[in-house]
Amino acid sequence: MKNLYIDFDGVILDTITPVYNLAKKLNLDVKTQTKEVGLLYSKIDWEELINESPALSDSIDNIKKLKESKKFNISILTHVNSLKEAAAKIRFINGLFDDLTIIPVPKSCSKTMMTQTKGAILVDDFSGNLKEWQESGGVAVKFVRELENGKYPEITSLEELLDMKF
Ligand SMILES: [Mg+2]
Repeated sequence: MKNLYIDFDGVILDTITPVYNLAKKLNLDVKTQTKEVGLLYSKIDWEELINESPALSDSIDNIKKLKESKKFNISILTHVNSLKEAAAKIRFINGLFDDLTIIPVPKSCSKTMMTQTKGAILVDDFSGNLKEWQESGGVAVKFVRELENGKYPEITSLEELLDMKF
């Protein structure tokens, strides 16, 4: 079994659109006002946000399929801005799966610092995370909404991992 790490925001749930909408309502520019947006992230009611966030490309069912295939040892590896955010994500994942590891990563730490990376797969929608992962010996797979022909192998649905050669 291959170790497979799956990002949460932008891969399992689209939590980003509701946060951006909230930022827009508050007249915050997510690109330039990083400090203010960081503060916004820490104040968000994550239980509510997760309830409002749509699943991406049948992510929940596809994780179940990946589990059933017994090809992967799956963990969720997600950056968090607060312990409340971590708790909400842990509760969400625990409510859906019996036996899935979830690793909350403090926003200021690299995902590579939290676990063994050599030969392990990371599916993430953020190239910065994939770059660090690959540099520490891991296998990078980019989750995209539409194909970008970028420098990492791309998938638009987690199910595609079943047909990939690692
Ligand atoms: Mg992400």
